[in-house]
Amino acid sequence: MIKHAYIHIPFCEKICTYCDFCKMFYHEKWVNEYLDQLEKEIKTKYNNDTLETIYIGGGTPSCLNIKQLEQLLEITTNLKKSTNLEFTIECNFENTTKEKLQLFHKFGVNRLSFGIETINKKQAEFLGRNISKKQIIKILNTAKFIGFTNINVDLMYAFPNQTIIDIKEDLEFLFSLDINHISTYSLIIEKNTKIGLQNIKSISEDLEYEMYNYICQELGKRGFIHYEISNFAKPNYKSKHNLCYWKNKEYYGFGLGASSYLENKRITNTRSLTKYLQEEYIKEEEIIIKEEQIEYEIILNLRTKEGINLKKFKNKYGIEVKDAYNYFSLLLHGLLKEEQENLFIPEDKWYISNEIIVKLLEGEKEV
Ligand code: SF4
Repeated sequence: MIKHAYIHIPFCEKICTYCDFCKMFYHEKWVNEYLDQLEKEIKTKYNNDTLETIYIGGGTPSCLNIKQLEQLLEITTNLKKSTNLEFTIECNFENTTKEKLQLFHKFGVNRLSFGIETINKKQAEFLGRNISKKQIIKILNTAKFIGFTNINVDLMYAFPNQTIIDIKEDLEFLFSLDINHISTYSLIIEKNTKIGLQNIKSISEDLEYEMYNYICQELGKRGFIHYEISNFAKPNYKSKHNLCYWKNKEYYGFGLGASSYLENKRITNTRSLTKYLQEEYIKEEEIIIKEEQIEYEIILNLRTKEGINLKKFKNKYGIEVKDAYNYFSLLLHGLLKEEQENLFIPEDKWYISNEIIVKLLEGEKEV
């Protein structure tokens, strides 16, 4: 039974300088054709499972006009929903209106995720974004008034020339908004983005580490639980949808460039709008054999505070983690911890989690 679904809306009004996602400029006709096709794709793939989470991401779903949003949300009424459904939609402050928020609420959306990234004018300009504090406060107040209580904002850091003081100002503003989930991202300069082509250099690893540490400490002081390497939530507000990825659960992915994990297969949709509109949804399918599933499980679980639940792991794969990997030396050096039923990376070592995971996987035993 699949409990999670992701729906991709690849349209944006503006293209940010750092963006490497599957996106394109908003065009009314393309959106209309896309939504018709999305409905068909969902009908072809969806197996009538009762969903616990639906996540509409992008691109910028909120850049669709009211009629298009209504069509999109109407499509989701064909999905069976559990009574405790978490239903998220990604929004940008520039194009979210009271009318759109009311529509989301009417269709059962109960979680909003906004990209703020930074409120520093120069850095926002560098990212190709332009939002005022006033606009943010107004939209969030409207959302809360309508009844949204579960709100995430994205914070980005590690910009060239950024200082800890700049981050402090961004955080103070976020705290004043009284929201309950913050996702953080360090700026990664990808080759094929505008800033990548301008040859902009990343900041030093040491400074990035200092910034990450600072953010973790400040969010901790404000009562946010650091439940995944980059994600922080007030109690009871962890993202159930994102946890499905980190727990290596199966999920549907609908829309351009979306990927699904179904029946031990990773299915990636095409990024070509032309192909998608011709019903050629799938670009590639990869069968994930048991050894790879185990690797994914370990890599993804170890991103979270809980880490790997050893009992569930044994039930799922019929093997103990300690029989599959030799991680004694990692335990000895404090890079992994085992407590009760869980094997996890201690929070103060999350910054080097990639290195720890590589070391763990290198300790694979012949079974
Ligand atoms: S970062 Fe988001 S809003 Fe900006 S171009 Fe990429 S998908 Fe669109």
